Amino acid sequence: MTTAAIIVAAGRGLRAGGGMPKQWRPLAGRRVADWTLDRFRGQVDHIVLVLSDEDQTAWDEFSGTDLILTAGGNDRAGSVRNGLAALEGLEVEQVLIHDVARPCVSGETIQNVLKALSTHDAAAPGLSVTDALWTGDGAVVTGTQDRGGLFAAQTPQGFCYEAIVAAHAAHPGGAADDVEVARTAGLDVAIVAGAADNIKITRPEDFARAERILGNHMDVRLGNGYDVHRFGDGDHVVLCGVKVPHDRGLQGHSDADVGMHAVTDAIYGALAQGDIGQHFPPSDPQWKGAASETFLRHAVELAGQMGYGISNVDCTLVCEYPKIGPHAPAMREELARIMGLRADQVSIKATTSERLGFTGRGEGIASLATACLVKS
Ligand code: MG
Repeated sequence: MTTAAIIVAAGRGLRAGGGMPKQWRPLAGRRVADWTLDRFRGQVDHIVLVLSDEDQTAWDEFSGTDLILTAGGNDRAGSVRNGLAALEGLEVEQVLIHDVARPCVSGETIQNVLKALSTHDAAAPGLSVTDALWTGDGAVVTGTQDRGGLFAAQTPQGFCYEAIVAAHAAHPGGAADDVEVARTAGLDVAIVAGAADNIKITRPEDFARAERILGNHMDVRLGNGYDVHRFGDGDHVVLCGVKVPHDRGLQGHSDADVGMHAVTDAIYGALAQGDIGQHFPPSDPQWKGAASETFLRHAVELAGQMGYGISNVDCTLVCEYPKIGPHAPAMREELARIMGLRADQVSIKATTSERLGFTGRGEGIASLATACLVKS
């Protein structure tokens, strides 16, 4: 199932103050947009960021990253249509559409929407209204409104990709949100549990509230991984997904990628979810010769399902030969690609062991890794 998220960030959002669009204003040490984008990293396969032509700095900053960039339209619906068009040809089956001004959305809410899409064409988070509702003329209460059956709408709103593309193409315009577009096209929209913390930053005071929410939820987990594989016959080794020519190979049940195994175990460790051997038993013949990417992808998906994003990974390879340095940039790129991270979130270091011990004698390669996971 290929999934994507469209983050609509082309609005000018000046009502929130600060003299610039709210998505570029600082919030708890980062910008609003940075928080929002990180919420979706590791949860979906592709992220589209819809930007205004006026935000040239953002275009420069994000081009060439893991994001797909596209220009905003004349209104929000136009921006969403451009975001949908940017996913053409990527065989996306499910798409989430999210307001950039909701940086406090939880991984749980995102997963709730994705789960509901396995049985519905459309799904969105809603909060049942608990406050009493009045009508008023601005000065006095003119009546009360039954709150039964009323929900406050949130994002991300999720859809089957083809269905929402068709719905937007057919809609005359003026819809409040994508759920309205979908309903106009006759789609049933499931309501999933929203969260009170999933606020939309609209007014100046919302920044302080969002800072409190983000600060309260800071849940950081570290994990470490360690692995060793022995040299045997061969003409190359695979390290962190990169084939490195060598006069020996590494032995192991899978492709013996000692670096990727350590990184994978670091992620499992941070989640307190055992290790590779537990999830992919070496006694099971189906994993013989398996590409280690399978293991790493599983760990990353498990992190996403548990509501964690990967903040960074640091991996050290211990060997006299082959020389790692020339291949380290490619290893960072490859690990980042598999984990859905930027290369600057992945570190590859190498050291010899001064010819001491089994690595020093050239009997094998050892690897250590640390992963930092943040609850999203
Ligand atoms: Mg191993």
